[in-house]
Amino acid sequence: MSSPNTPEIARIPSAPFDENTYVLRLSGRQEAVVVDPGLEPDKIVDYLEEAGLTPTAILCTHGHSDHIAGNETLRQKWPDCPIVIGKGDAYKLTDPVGNLSAQFGMPIQSPPADTTLVEGDRYEAAGLTFRVLETPGHSAGHVVFVLEEANPTWLLGGDMLFRQSIGRTDFADGDPTAMLASIREKLYRLPDDTIVYPGHGPETTIGFEKQHNPFVPG
Ligand SMILES: [Zn+2]
Repeated sequence: MSSPNTPEIARIPSAPFDENTYVLRLSGRQEAVVVDPGLEPDKIVDYLEEAGLTPTAILCTHGHSDHIAGNETLRQKWPDCPIVIGKGDAYKLTDPVGNLSAQFGMPIQSPPADTTLVEGDRYEAAGLTFRVLETPGHSAGHVVFVLEEANPTWLLGGDMLFRQSIGRTDFADGDPTAMLASIREKLYRLPDDTIVYPGHGPETTIGFEKQHNPFVPG
């Protein structure tokens, strides 16, 4: 068993894009933070209910539909839970073209943002404090959340850095140059042992990607 006040994290993947939702909490506490609720929100609700957890914030790394599709269901169940996203991507929550769902033929809207974040903000929920970095490239308003109270540091990285891969940059507001700059100048400056919890696929570390990422050598 982990000791009290140790951060814990669970990954809940959703079809069809194998998008990762994460549920974070401090051990022994009943409040939780949900990151990037995906296209199978019933799995997230079941997880929270079985664990006896109440979400006190929904954090979205960016506004693409596979990362926000579960917001509505969670909010119906927990109406007081705020939706939090980077300032630049907030409009995508309620814009099916901006969040790409219209293009996939199943328009999705989330409730609007309750709080928007910018570079350097610290957002606190469920006893956890997340530092915000703006990381344009995959989506212009993409942000990542750094949890420094975990040891080693955790990065909720969204669709930036994957294990030996990176996020797409060919969407309307994608930018390959910005993508490389965000990874090199923000993510690669985190400690090498930082654990990356990405929006798709398995976790990795900053140090591993500096050594082995074919798209962004360290
Ligand atoms: Zn995305």
